[in-house]
Amino acid sequence: MSGSLEGKTALVTGGGSGIGRAAALAFAREGAHVAIVDYVQEGANQTLNMIREIGEGRVFKADVSKPDEIRRAVEQTVETYGRLDCAFNNAGIEGNTAARTDPWDHDNWNRVIAINLTGVFLSMQYEVEQMLKRGGGAIVNTSSIMGLVGAVGAFAYTAAKHGVAGLTKSAALLYAQKGIRVNAVCPGYIHTPMVERSVGIGSEFERHITKHLQPIGRLGRPEEIAEAVVWLCSPAASLVTGITMPVDGGCVAQ
Ligand code: NAP
Repeated sequence: MSGSLEGKTALVTGGGSGIGRAAALAFAREGAHVAIVDYVQEGANQTLNMIREIGEGRVFKADVSKPDEIRRAVEQTVETYGRLDCAFNNAGIEGNTAARTDPWDHDNWNRVIAINLTGVFLSMQYEVEQMLKRGGGAIVNTSSIMGLVGAVGAFAYTAAKHGVAGLTKSAALLYAQKGIRVNAVCPGYIHTPMVERSVGIGSEFERHITKHLQPIGRLGRPEEIAEAVVWLCSPAASLVTGITMPVDGGCVAQ
């Protein structure tokens, strides 16, 4: 698929780490100019340095839960590159992991919903605004296997990720005839800093995941999600809209 996004612009939220970083690099490899959006500059700058070895990118600092900041980042992307073709709304947090905390914790609920769900809603709003001006585009949102099935006590995270799945489908329907495709990826357990924090590499929980929860028998790699994202944004996926695609080593097949 090399060069399938030549001359296009792709925006990635949460591009400073994990899945977002892998996707930013994958977009650059396909020839797209990449806008890396993150609220911490350090990780985003590291991604930018990696991109500069293969292509073109810029960092735009924004907290996706703040309307003015994410709107500005989208506008700056278009001011810089003249267009927005692809967007990967991926920034997210694990929140307080359910096993360790109170699932009724209001602060956790508000924070996780604000970033993982409202952040996707806001990002989409400003991206769609720009895409409509040029007649179309492709959006991919990061849901999760926890956007497809429940997880004991993880109220805020599963509600946010199910919300992303619903938002994706409703937006896909609204824009289907306006040239904008909207899909979601639903990663299984992927080896990123988030999983290092919340699962622990080498932990009993990781062994449980690879033995019982993820039939493929290992954690996924961020690049394996990035491949799906770039494909969903590419012309090869021109008939695909409104899907919530598990990329999960068989997790939700059980
Ligand atoms: P990660 O390594 O922690 O990366 C998340 C990135 O998002 C970080 O750069 C983080 O910045 C950034 N971010 C967080 N809140 C933000 C905000 N308000 N505004 C802008 N940027 C923000 O985690 P990951 O595993 O790659 O996760 C990426 C996405 O995949 C998340 O939506 C996550 O829920 C989802 N997901 C992950 C897995 C998995 O197994 N890893 C599975 C299913 C779904 P900081 O690092 O500075 O906080």
